[in-house]
Amino acid sequence: MIKPKMLIAVSGCTGTGKTKLGIELAKKYDGEVISADSMQIYKGLDIITNTVTEEEAAGIKHHCISFVAPEEQYNVIKFINHTIPIIRDIFERDKTPIIVGGTAYYIEALLWEFTLYDQSEMCKDDEYVKKSIPILESRLMNDYDKLKQLDPTHAQFLHPNDSRKIKRSLDIIKKHGISHSVLLNRQHQSSIAKRGKLRWDGALLFSVECNQEVLDKRLDLRTEKMVELGLQTELDMFSSKMQNSESGLLHQVIGFKEFKSYLKLKQSDSNNSKALEEALKEGIEKMKTVTKRYSRKQIRWIKNRLQQDNVCPNYYFRRLDSTFPEKWEQVISCPVYDTVERFFSRTLDKSFIDTFQQPRRTTHCCKICDVTCIGEDSFSVHMQSRKHRRKKAYKNRTLIYDKSETIEKEKVV
Ligand SMILES: [Zn+2]
Repeated sequence: MIKPKMLIAVSGCTGTGKTKLGIELAKKYDGEVISADSMQIYKGLDIITNTVTEEEAAGIKHHCISFVAPEEQYNVIKFINHTIPIIRDIFERDKTPIIVGGTAYYIEALLWEFTLYDQSEMCKDDEYVKKSIPILESRLMNDYDKLKQLDPTHAQFLHPNDSRKIKRSLDIIKKHGISHSVLLNRQHQSSIAKRGKLRWDGALLFSVECNQEVLDKRLDLRTEKMVELGLQTELDMFSSKMQNSESGLLHQVIGFKEFKSYLKLKQSDSNNSKALEEALKEGIEKMKTVTKRYSRKQIRWIKNRLQQDNVCPNYYFRRLDSTFPEKWEQVISCPVYDTVERFFSRTLDKSFIDTFQQPRRTTHCCKICDVTCIGEDSFSVHMQSRKHRRKKAYKNRTLIYDKSETIEKEKVV
């Protein structure tokens, strides 16, 4: 009898602990790790791409790390062609392949046979078009109010002052004859329908997640640690090579764009140590910002591309929360092992696995500053901002403001 090819994958954005979990799994289930990370593929950039160290790997074989020359143009097709034979070989040797990475479309391409996103087939909704024309042409309403009438679902995610996005949503209504939220929904549906079957007999994916605030702090620390580990030396080594090259590296790896002025200075005026130091500092701050932004993008990718638990048979998706590393055993290891045992014994039930919930988005309004914020996070940032505190102090002194400092305008679950 041929043994079924059952594969485990661990995804999550940088800083969630997915590398650690991957190694734990490999140790327990006689596995080998396949990295699915569009940055760690590059050679000689171990620090800046946060590649697993020999010590961390703890004797577990890692594939698809540091094997592409920085000047090479690389893409997902090349990645699949390189990696699928490796996974087959791991199965042949009777071991368990464990895919670990934060590049969701790499993982997606390894799990499913064919992925094609079809954006056509957009049918107009005649009723909706009829209703929308007078509103779109109205001279009395502003764009935000128009959108609130025509697509309240989408409007609540947009800031009233974000005229560019509001206009774009109205343009979609004009062009396609459906609302922006309906369009997004249909695109999502069709992308699932066009996906081929699973390449393997079964796949179980863990998504390691973390509270955003905690994660942001972790990512800042990580950037600082990179500097300690010798980020500067790594950048210096590449600065000469990269001089005339417009390789994929510069666009794909976080760090190069951020340290551009530092690298430039290094090439032209490497004796000006004060300026170099300034440029390096600036680069570090930029890198912190970009790293945090990238983590949010990764989370969106994972959610959009990998969390489709009810659609595909023999595919299982489970979320984990790594906000409290001291509870690792309890909130990560135990549930993971339990799920994997059930998966291998073919007793894993989809209803056992929690479904992915949208983070709750709320619109808040600060009456003191007349500012609207989307989401709890950005509201709490506003409340702590200097601008807000200054205005509040001023208004307190002059006693001219309504005591109900803030109100929650809308709440969406
Ligand atoms: Zn305020």
